[in-house]
Amino acid sequence: MTFDSLGLAAPILQAVAATGYTEPTPVQARVIPEALAGRDLMVSAQTGSGKTAAFMLPALQRLTVPHAAHGRGPRVLVLVPTRELSAQVTKAAETYGRAIARLRTVSIVGGMPYPAQNRLLQMGVDILVATPGRLLDQMQSGRVDLARLEVLVLDEADRMLDMGFKDDLDAIVARVPASRQTLLFSATLDPAIVKLAGAMLREPSRIEMQTARTRHDHIEQRLHLADDQGHKNRLLDHLLRDTGVNQAIVFTATKRSADEVALDLHAKGFAAAALHGDMNQGARTRTLQALHRGRLRVLVATDVAARGIDVHGVSHVINYDLPRQAEDYVHRIGRTGRAGRSGTAISLVNAREHAQVRVIERFTAQAIPVTVIEGLEPRVRSFAKPAGPSRRPPGRSSGRPSGKPAGRSFRQGR
Ligand code: ADP
Ligand code: MG
Repeated sequence: MTFDSLGLAAPILQAVAATGYTEPTPVQARVIPEALAGRDLMVSAQTGSGKTAAFMLPALQRLTVPHAAHGRGPRVLVLVPTRELSAQVTKAAETYGRAIARLRTVSIVGGMPYPAQNRLLQMGVDILVATPGRLLDQMQSGRVDLARLEVLVLDEADRMLDMGFKDDLDAIVARVPASRQTLLFSATLDPAIVKLAGAMLREPSRIEMQTARTRHDHIEQRLHLADDQGHKNRLLDHLLRDTGVNQAIVFTATKRSADEVALDLHAKGFAAAALHGDMNQGARTRTLQALHRGRLRVLVATDVAARGIDVHGVSHVINYDLPRQAEDYVHRIGRTGRAGRSGTAISLVNAREHAQVRVIERFTAQAIPVTVIEGLEPRVRSFAKPAGPSRRPPGRSSGRPSGKPAGRSFRQGR
């Protein structure tokens, strides 16, 4: 299958070719023709499957012809949960739209100073990428006119619901033209998402690619049992000294521990920095740029801040703390193994987190093998007994390539 067969216009095909993509990903092959036909869609596909281009290319297709009505308001609106994702989607719009004349893409997110944002909006916009809260703010002060809107995209709709944007979404959608096309993307189509779609989409076609539960076979997952935080720090230090680590994202549970771990690594000589929601936008942007440019080797981040990070050099994801939600585990490990590469995801797990390992294993239907590093063995080498009857993870107990540890067995040394 090639991009040429999907019905995309020449300027878009030209930009896609310049990007270096040779064929559409499966979700793109399914979504693009239906979106071009004008249908409403609700789509689930795993992280890293190419959903951005799946909605952006057909949306851009509309912008290859001028709008009948004059005006400054956007013709395409993409709602996203976080600033980082907004930056990424904005960049994608610019990349895929570079052969379309006079295309203006604007990003409106919280934390950005109002005067600059107001100026951007005044200059007119074709594609608006926004987080719901700030957009609603700007709509209420009359700075965004959605009368010309043709396409509404909800990207990472599951995450927007998780983050409490439901009311904002309702308020925004109530004020966009009923004639619009709506495209909803989510990692999973769980009941809350289907309900949201029921209220916002018209006779949508439902496209379910492999969901977040899919095996991430291109990502090697393993875990190390840790006695305490000091042990976690020693394990982390050891893991990061491996020359096989090109770049790593280390996830912590809190902003404070992100700062602490980043400082500690920095003191040990690693090119490391923190990324979390308490940092101002300028600092966040600079940190992400440093990661993109390879000047930063280790990013220590919280879940929300790391959402949507797409840096091909990230070879390793390390869970310093396990996420509270199993979905977040899948999103975290999806930060590595981008664009067809392989990746490694390592979790450092203390006794308090054992139960959470089981929740994650049930969610992904995969057992995460335990590995031991010589010299850094944990005092307690087995999992705490789960309460109640034994609950084996539902996945195959062994799915690793030969030579890798299987299931719950321990491998000595490395
Ligand atoms: P998702 O939103 O599904 O998590 P993204 O849209 O962020 O995934 O895409 C993941 C990565 O795949 C990006 O680096 C993107 O540039 C790359 N990508 C997207 N489409 C293609 C394609 N057709 N061929 C090769 N790489 C692609
Ligand atoms: Mg995405």
